Amino acid sequence: MVIGGGISGIQASLDLAALGFKVYLVEKEAILGGKMAKLDKTFPTNDCSMCILSPKLIECAREPNITILSYSEVKTVSGSAGNFQVILKRKPRYVDESLCNGCGACTAYCPVKIPDSFNQNLSSASAINILCPQAIPLCAAIDKEHCLFLTQKKCKICSPVCLHGAIDFTQSEEELHINVGAILVTAGCGIFEAKIAGQYGYSRYKNVITQWS
Ligand code: SF4
Ligand code: SF4
Repeated sequence: MVIGGGISGIQASLDLAALGFKVYLVEKEAILGGKMAKLDKTFPTNDCSMCILSPKLIECAREPNITILSYSEVKTVSGSAGNFQVILKRKPRYVDESLCNGCGACTAYCPVKIPDSFNQNLSSASAINILCPQAIPLCAAIDKEHCLFLTQKKCKICSPVCLHGAIDFTQSEEELHINVGAILVTAGCGIFEAKIAGQYGYSRYKNVITQWS
C-alpha cells in the first residue's frame, strides 16, 4: 500500500507495479496529483508541471497492478511487516465512480458557486465538481458542505442532468479492510516559507512571488 497520491506516491506505485507488485494507492483527496498538479513551471528545467504529471496519472489509471483508492484515509494499521491489516475510511463522493465519465455536464448546471480551493480560490467551482480536466479518477464529487440537497434537501438539478445515472445521494462513509505486505508513506511536503530565503525579497517586493502566493 502506498499512502499519498502525489508525484512521489504515483512514481513509487508505477515502479512497484512494473516489478510485478500489486499496489493500493491511497489518496485523501478526490483525485491523484497532490501539490504538483497545482504547479505551473517546475525547477530546474521550467517544464510544465502537468506535462510531466499527466502521463503518469494516466499510466496509474491504466496499470492493472494499481488500485487507486482516492477520497480515502487510513484509519488503523495493525500487524507487522509482511502482513498488515489496514482499515480505510472511504468518503462519499455522492457520484458513482463506475458510472461517471467526467463529462462535466452536472458542474455546468449546478447553481452553487464556491471558491475553487484547487485553484487557490482564484476562480469559482460548483458544488459538484471535477477538480481539474486531467483528473484521475476522472469522476465528479459533491461538496457536502455546500450542496443544496445535502444541506437543505433542495435542488437535485444534477441528478436528471447526468445521463449516466451516476449521481447517488444514498452514498455514505464506508470502511474498507485490506491486507498488505508492506506500507510506503509518501504523504507529501509542506509549503516552503519563502521569507526564509530573504535574498530574493519575498514579502518585501510585490513582484517576487512563489508558486502559491
Ligand atoms: S456525474 Fe454525470 S454529468 Fe457529472 S461528470 Fe459524471 S457523468 Fe457527467
Ligand atoms: S443537488 Fe447539490 S450538487 Fe447537485 S446541482 Fe444541486 S447544489 Fe449542485
